Amino acid sequence: MDMHVPLKFVEAVPVQDRLQRPLRELRMSVIDRCNFRCTYCMPADSLNGRGVFLPLERLLTDHEIETLVRAFVRLGVKKLRITGGEPLLRPGLPALVDQLSGIRGLEDIALTTNGVMLTRLADDLAAAGLDRITVSLDTLDEDVLAYMSGGQAKLEEVLAGIAAAESAGFRRLKINTVVQRGVNDHTIIDLLEHFRGTPHRVRLIEYMDVGNSNHWSPDDVVPNAEWVEKIGRRWPVRTVASDNPAETARRYEYLDGQGEIGFISSITKPFCGGCTRARVTADGVFYTCLFSDRGTNLMPLIRHGEDPQALADRISGVWAERGDRYSELRGAQGRKRPKIEMYRLGG
Ligand code: SAM
Ligand code: SF4
Ligand code: SF4
Repeated sequence: MDMHVPLKFVEAVPVQDRLQRPLRELRMSVIDRCNFRCTYCMPADSLNGRGVFLPLERLLTDHEIETLVRAFVRLGVKKLRITGGEPLLRPGLPALVDQLSGIRGLEDIALTTNGVMLTRLADDLAAAGLDRITVSLDTLDEDVLAYMSGGQAKLEEVLAGIAAAESAGFRRLKINTVVQRGVNDHTIIDLLEHFRGTPHRVRLIEYMDVGNSNHWSPDDVVPNAEWVEKIGRRWPVRTVASDNPAETARRYEYLDGQGEIGFISSITKPFCGGCTRARVTADGVFYTCLFSDRGTNLMPLIRHGEDPQALADRISGVWAERGDRYSELRGAQGRKRPKIEMYRLGG
């Protein structure tokens, strides 16, 4: 049966959660597998045993993802971020993007990737209608990069991916950099220098306690306030005002006009108050927070359901009950159940 019931038959009702936060952004994981083993996300030693990753037949099909995204768009979602795992490992990703870019009301489709497969895919993704790309790159130091990626990342390959994205027309990339004290913090200024004078914006991300396997400790976090001071001593910066309360990064610009930096400070300056993001795993489980320990399985309503309104109603019912503010409460709350791993949930 065709799930694409014309819009006029489906009620479009923007929803709000218990803290009056609307639903605006969907982070859709399209695969949980990855070609890296980043120590802060998917450390290799946590993956022992079979069955860690979803069997491929459990992944939502392209058509099912489209059905799901349409339901979210009806409830107010304007922005979609495609993530994973490593989303470029999903076979036929450009075709999926092409399908999604036709959804009326969806204003922006972005992708977060570790970059290495962009050399093969950037042109096709641009042609398919992808709007923006974020590339994760933690350091320019080859040894540190090798360590942080579990021995998988090669700097020249990530830089080649960035170059491929540029030549495919993605002029302004975001570069996501997770900072870990004692691991890559001594290489951050070099990384910033590399991207100064380009249109790309490095975003320094405070190392987060996502998942259960990265052995996170507060001592590993470099508060972003330290960076603002340190960077300012080298290159004076000033804040850039944002009119978007849902923006995760605080933006600064170099006074000499050489570009911008973003700071994502979910440990020291949580931003739950403006959090309008939903997350869905590659097998169709819906989570209302990056730190959730329980989700809602939408798969039955997507794969076997025949009623797009029932799917939208389920999502909206879950969102209406949402009261998540994990980062604001961090430490003050006891936790009994394990969290979902970030490579399943999507960053
Ligand atoms: N594989 C893709 C990539 O690395 O860009 C997309 C998925 S990854 C889970 C999404 C983002 O989450 C990446 O930018 C990654 O650096 C970030 N991330 C993963 N683990 C993190 C952690 N413990 N703290 C902060 N950011 C993290
Ligand atoms: Fe893979 Fe991205 Fe996680 Fe690194 S951060 S292991 S690249 S999913
Ligand atoms: Fe949103 Fe949860 Fe992160 Fe807070 S902790 S910003 S509610 S995802």
